[in-house]
This record gives sequence, C-alpha cells and structure tokens, in this order.
Amino acid sequence: MAAFFTDQLDYILFFYGLAFILLGAISFAVSRGTQRTMPWPWLGAFGYIHGTGEWLDLLALILGDNSGFAVARTALMTVSYIPLIEFGRLLAISRGLRVPGSWIYLPLLALVFVGWCLVGVNGANAFARYVLAFPGAMLVCWLLAIQARDAPSAEKRWLLAGAAGFGLYALAAGLVVPSTPDWDGDFFNGDMFIAATGMPIQFVRGVLACFLSFAIWVYWGQRLVVETDSALYAKFHKRQFVWTISAMGVILIAGWLLTQVLGGIYRANVEEEALGDLNLIASRLAGETAAIEGMVRALAGSRSVGELLAGNPKADRARVDDVLSLETEASGASQGFILDRRGKVVAVAVRGSTDDVTIGQDFSQTPFYKTAIAGAPGFHFTIEGGLHTPNYYASYPVRSGSGRMVGQTIGAAVFKKHLSRVESDLMQFDRSFAMIDRNGIVLLTNRPEMRLRAVWPLPAGLIDALSEVYGTINPASLMKQETVGSVWTVFDGDRDYVQRRSLEHGDWSLMTWKVPQGIFASRVLGIIITLQMAILALVYLAGRERWMHDNVQLEKRFELEELARSLDKRAATDPLTGLFNRRKIDRSLANEIMRAQRYKTQLSLMLFDIDHFKKVNDNFGHQAGDAVLVELARYTAGHIRNTDVLARWGGEEFVILSPGNSGPMGCLFAGNLLAGFRNLRIADVGTITCSFGVAEFQDGDTAETLLARADDALYRAKSNGRNRIELADQSPAPGTSIAPAEVSSGEAPDAKTTFERRPEAKAI
Ligand code: GH3
Ligand code: MG
Ligand code: MG
Repeated sequence: MAAFFTDQLDYILFFYGLAFILLGAISFAVSRGTQRTMPWPWLGAFGYIHGTGEWLDLLALILGDNSGFAVARTALMTVSYIPLIEFGRLLAISRGLRVPGSWIYLPLLALVFVGWCLVGVNGANAFARYVLAFPGAMLVCWLLAIQARDAPSAEKRWLLAGAAGFGLYALAAGLVVPSTPDWDGDFFNGDMFIAATGMPIQFVRGVLACFLSFAIWVYWGQRLVVETDSALYAKFHKRQFVWTISAMGVILIAGWLLTQVLGGIYRANVEEEALGDLNLIASRLAGETAAIEGMVRALAGSRSVGELLAGNPKADRARVDDVLSLETEASGASQGFILDRRGKVVAVAVRGSTDDVTIGQDFSQTPFYKTAIAGAPGFHFTIEGGLHTPNYYASYPVRSGSGRMVGQTIGAAVFKKHLSRVESDLMQFDRSFAMIDRNGIVLLTNRPEMRLRAVWPLPAGLIDALSEVYGTINPASLMKQETVGSVWTVFDGDRDYVQRRSLEHGDWSLMTWKVPQGIFASRVLGIIITLQMAILALVYLAGRERWMHDNVQLEKRFELEELARSLDKRAATDPLTGLFNRRKIDRSLANEIMRAQRYKTQLSLMLFDIDHFKKVNDNFGHQAGDAVLVELARYTAGHIRNTDVLARWGGEEFVILSPGNSGPMGCLFAGNLLAGFRNLRIADVGTITCSFGVAEFQDGDTAETLLARADDALYRAKSNGRNRIELADQSPAPGTSIAPAEVSSGEAPDAKTTFERRPEAKAI
C-alpha cells in the first residue's frame, strides 16, 4: 500500500497543487461577487502560493532536489500560510472579535527562523507548520463555522464543510512534519504517518485540498444562484455542477491511468534492461568458473594423479606436477592442487605469487574437500578472511582406478580462482551488482563501499558469527527484508529495481540494482497531458458558465425593458378604449403647443362629449355604455390624421389634438365626425350624437387656457341643444383680452353644408 502510494507521489503532488490553485481561482471569483462579506482574495492568495509550492515539490521530485531549492520551497510554503492567517484575522475583525494586529507575523516568522537555526530546512518546515499552518487553518475553520451560523441554509452547509476541511487540514498540514533524524521536534512525522496509515501525508493533504476547493466552489455556486435569481440559471448551475465534477473526475482518473501506463512502459524498459545486465554479469561469472570446472574434472580423471593418490610406487610425481601446472595454466585458475584422502596437499601448482599453498597443508575442513571426498563435485565461492578476496573453488573426487579400492574416492583435485579480476572488470559497469552469501552478506561487488554489508536485517548474534568468518560486517541493512526474484523496493534509501538470482553452484546469489533516474520524468508526460485536459475542461466550463450568466443577465434586462415598456404604455393608455389617456394627452398637448409657438403653426383642439350618455347606461346597462365608448373610439381613431392625437379625456368625453389645423378646419373635421357618428349603428343602442367644442391655439395660450376655451365651447354646444359644434372664441390668454374671432361661436362655419343638424337627434 505504502509502496503503491510512494510510486504515485508525483501524481499526488500534481493534484494537490492543482486543487489549491483551483481554490485560489475560486476564492478570487467569489471575491468579485456582489456581496463582499469575506476577505476572499487572501484565501485566493493562499491557494495560489501554496499550490505553486506543491508543484515546485513535484519539480524537485522529477528533476532532483538540492539544498538551495529546498530552502526556497520551504520559504514559499512559510509565506503561503500568511495570507491564510490574514484571511482568518480579517474575518475575525469583521465579526468584531479581538485579534492581534499584523505585527503578529514578525514573532511567528522569527520562530520559523529559530527552527531553521536549530535543525536547518526541516526545522524551519516543522516550525512553519506548528506556528503558522496549524493556528492559521484552525482560525479559518473556526471563523467559517461562525460565518455559517447566519448564512442561508444552502450556503451554510458548504461553509460548514469548508470549516471541517480547514480543521482537518490544520491537523494534516500543521502537525505532521518532515521526519528529521536526531531531532525530537518532529513529534509526529511523515514517516510515522505512512507507517500508521500506509499512505503518504501528501495524499491526505491533497484529498483535503480537493475537498476544500470543492466546498468553496459549491458555496460560490449557491451564492451565484441567489445573486442571479433566475430559475433558468439555477437549473443550469445544477447541471454545470454535475458536469464539472464528472469532467474533472474523468480527467483526473484517466490522467492517472495514462501516467501509470507511461510509467509502466518506462518500468518495463528498466526491468528489461536490468534483466539483460543480470544475464550479462551472470554469464561473465559463469565464463570465469566454467573453464576450471571442466579442467578439474579432467585433472581428477588423470591416471597419474590416480596413481599418485593410490600410493602406487610406479606413480610418476614429476608428471603429476607437469599435468597440474599445465592444467592450472590452461584453466586460468590461480591455483591447482591435489588433496589426499585426509585433505592434505600432495601436489600444488601456483600461478602468480600471492598464494602460498604448501605440500602437506591441511584442507580437510574446507567445504570443497568435504564435498569431493564424499564423492561429488564441489563448487564453492568463498572469501578469504583478512584479505577479503573472493575466490571460487572447484573440486572433484579422484577415484581409484585399480586394486581393491577401485571406484573409491581416494582424494580430490582442486582449482581455485581469484574473482578479484571479475570485480575490477565490472567496477566500471553502471549497474551495481553484488554476490551475497546465503545470509545476505555482500562479498563480491563493484560498489566497494558495500562490501561486507548486510543486505537485509540480521540478528546481532549472526552478525557477530559472520564477522568472525569474513571480518567486520556492517549491520546497517540495505533493504527492509529479504527478497527473492525481482522487485521494486527501497534499496539503500532509493527506490530501485532489485534483482536476485541464485548462483548455479553453492548457496550464494547474485544481486543487481540501479536507481532508475527517469521514472518520474516519464510519468510527467502523463501529468502534463492531464493538466492540459483539466485546463481545457475548466476553461470550457467557465466559458459556458460566463455565457449562461451573461445570457440570463441579458434576458433579465430584456424583461425589465419589456416591463418598463408595458408600464409606460399602461400609464399612457385607457384600458377600456385603448386610446391614450389624459396623462398622455397632457404631455402631447404641451409638446404641440411648444411646436406651434416655435414654428408659428396652427393647432386646434377638439373636445367632444356623448350626448345624454347617462341614458344609454340607464336604458341599456353599463356594458352597453362601454360598448358605445369602445365603438366610438374605434371609429374616431380610424378617421383622424396620422398626426392627430386622440385620447379619452374622461368618462364619455374625448379629445383630439390636431396640429396644423386651424379652428375652422377643426370644426370642419368635427362636422365630418359628427356625420359619421350619425351613421354609426351600435348594437343594442342604435345611434348616438356628440357635442363638440373646438378651440384654436392662439399666441399666449397655455394648455390650460386652450383646454378651458375648448371646454367652454363644448359647454356652449351642450347648452345650445347638443349634437353640434361650437368654435371657441379667439380668446385671450389669461389676463389678456383678444377680440372675438370671426368664427366666434355657434356651429361650424359650414356646418349646414357639411352636415345636417338634427335637432330631433334620437333622444336616448
Ligand atoms: P350630457 O348630454 O349633458 O353630456 O348628458 P350626459 O348624460 O351624457 O352627461 P352626464 O355627465 O350626466 O353623465 C355622464 C355619464 O357617463 C355618467 C356616467 O355614468 C357615464 N359614464 C362615464 N364613464 C363611463 C364609462 O366608462 N362607461 C359607462 N358605461 N358609462 C360611463
Ligand atoms: Mg354626455
Ligand atoms: Mg360628460
């Protein structure tokens, strides 16, 4: 489990950083909302800086780290916690709580510096977590919880989730510190965490970062929905929510799989290359030993050797020496000798000068003698104490060829070979290899610093015993436990591909390992692709969100405009007849008067009132009365000029404003209407008549005076018998006196010719 997560550390750091950068982006987005109740930009700054720091950790993992870079990253991490605390501090101030001023950062940073002085980078890292991350995240947790109390329920839930996220983050980021050997300040460190839970702390922090940005994002969404106040948007947002979660989930999982595949290809290459190297080393060793294995058999079968060991008086000793030295030479062995039945040297040939085997020397305790004398060929790797020289012994039983003893083992032929040359040959080989004995002690290796080191942990007693055989053994084991075959494991502090293969003879085995340099670099391609996909998806989703938001806003604006228009219309029209109302005609009248004054044009105003309308209501009912009003309005509207303005003045009284028309022309027009009304047959009611008062605009007239004169004329028309037209006096503006006009009163000048008076107008 832990190994699995350790292999994924790059991807973990990637999504950890991504989550914080998203938290930053979301916080800044929230801060642009309308309700600026929280100091979101500070949380945004924390997210951005901290996320960047995580990505720098990723970079260190991929490209390799150095102390300067480590210091810079710790500094960035330290700095990132300041905006987090500031977010909490400002929130607290806005809630009226008493908190220390920004001077507090000085002593806190000083403490981080103390940590650095105490134990270097790891100390600074630990202190930054203890004094900044933990209190900062706790403060934010507490204040979000307070803030949630008076938030609407949809927002409350996510503020509380955010609070919980920060609480957990305070524990994960503030209390779990890098493990620092020989320092007691790392009370609970990353190593302990991984031992206890099987996962690296970065994974937990990454998951919490995802959760935090998710909670704040949903909170922001709820706010947007409330602010936008549109059912359409709320629905869209819900869908967008599902889309975003699904898209990000799919991208992160697919990206992880891709990263795994790419890493897998690299691993497969590493494994293949490692196997090739292992085979190469094994065959190099086999080459070294095969020659002496063949030769020792030939030597053991030699007749003269047999005769010598059998004690045959005819044995040719000189010949034995010749054969021995010839074969020693030919096999490339460093030594060849013949042992008698008791393990004593009876003949010896030496190449080189380092060995000093003498006639009569006792080898009876050696494994190669014991094996051979028991009748079997013996092949043994050994290391000669003191000199630490690895050797290979090949021994073969010599059997009696004659007499009573025929077939019995009477001695042994032995070749010994130094393996130092193999070792020095392979010294330049970039893959490390070691030949280890069955206890896992490195005996032959191209990494001299590892010689006589225990590969896996051994009991102290065994170490002592082995130290007596080989010399002082370094008990610091290279890996946690014994392995068989090929495994990816931590070896000498690095994650390596380690292979172990038993050697053909004896109980030694061969191990190879090499730190694979590019494993993270090849996975990075997967990470970059994932990042690109994530950015693409987010940009698309953000674009959709923006588009929808703008659309909703636009729609709302249209709706408002529509509403304003209809309100405007309603304010200007009479609901029954659909004509303009008095308010509207007042405005038009004022405009037309200004125009007539400015351009010296004519303007006439006609007021007309239905005669005896009360009776219509009385006789036919109010609805019939309404129908009369509607019909009359419709008819009149159809017979005025485009430039005329018709309005319902009130009750059964109408007004026509007729620009460009003189009073007499107005009367003429009124006469036409009057005639038209007479022919108008209104269902149930029959015909009606109206009385008209016409007034022409005079210089000095105001709307009031003009209307008053028209009203006077109308009044006169009524009093003069109705169903007629009266032209108002060319009356003076208030306070002035103007001589009566030619058409001063009475009917329209040509009323008689234009239309007939009907004094007997239907009495209704
Ligand atoms: P005159 O010839 O002197 O104008 O007599 P009249 O009956 O027409 O005038 P009066 O002012 O006595 O009565 C007007 C009536 O018009 C009274 C009112 O009930 C009626 N009226 C006013 N507005 C409406 C309306 O919107 N619908 C209906 N059906 N009747 C209305
Ligand atoms: Mg009337
Ligand atoms: Mg009236």
